[in-house]
Amino acid sequence: MDIRYIAKDVDKNKGVKIKDIIIGNGDFTIIAGPCSVENSEMIISTAQHVKSMGAAMLRGGAFKPRTSPYSFQGLKEEGLDLLKSASEKANIPVVSEVMDPRDVERIYNYVDMFQIGSRNMQNFSLLKEVGRTDKPILLKRGMAATIEDFIMAAEYMAAEGNDKIILCERGIRTFENMTRNTLDLAAVPILKKLCKLPVIVDPSHGTGVRDLVLPMSLAALAVGADGIMVEVHPDPACALSDADQSLSFDDFEALIKRINQVKEHFLDIREGCL
Ligand code: PEP
Ligand code: MN
Repeated sequence: MDIRYIAKDVDKNKGVKIKDIIIGNGDFTIIAGPCSVENSEMIISTAQHVKSMGAAMLRGGAFKPRTSPYSFQGLKEEGLDLLKSASEKANIPVVSEVMDPRDVERIYNYVDMFQIGSRNMQNFSLLKEVGRTDKPILLKRGMAATIEDFIMAAEYMAAEGNDKIILCERGIRTFENMTRNTLDLAAVPILKKLCKLPVIVDPSHGTGVRDLVLPMSLAALAVGADGIMVEVHPDPACALSDADQSLSFDDFEALIKRINQVKEHFLDIREGCL
């Protein structure tokens, strides 16, 4: 594999800095928030809840890549405004998706990290456009992308000058239909070995099933992920997108408690295996 620009050298593996947090420095980072920003109240209450539970970053989609053009497409600019004020109110940095190279400039001032979604992992003009900025990028694996395709997508951005990249395993399409996607956890140690970029796991999109988010989060911790990104909603049954996989505030609290119970042990034992 022809890797020229993304961090290859283990000594350079100091993680990616986003405001005053670092992802990939040996700790296990939690990014949490709703699939979509729906209104002011829900994004503020979610921001405050996840922050109080120890999440380092808030997620929330304003531009939504929906499979059907007739599904809720996100609040767009209004969503970005709401996300930014929730971020300021709860004092937590935010990540949100950019879908179009023409939107990179206007989204730049609203987010602390760009998200490139699964459906855009090989949108090369978008990769190059965010690669020309100095903002950290969360790159999600394409649902039909090999690990090499995934690394090469990161390479596109790094070749433009931006190597502040965090990779996110979010499941791939297989014949299995008990889950929305098949979460490829073996990709985590493989990616870390091949390119040393921080790697996080999204067990929400990776399974599509609320009850699987906790076990797969623990599994992500065990295999060496630098963190997880999970969907949390104040009232999951009424979520405008991804209701079945969203955690309630209580579910999220239970998840964080469980992670905190086992975190130190796993961080210890996984050292030396990676
Ligand atoms: C998301 O995280 O908001 C999302 C749409 O996920 P994915 O791109 O992995 O489908
Ligand atoms: Mn979602």
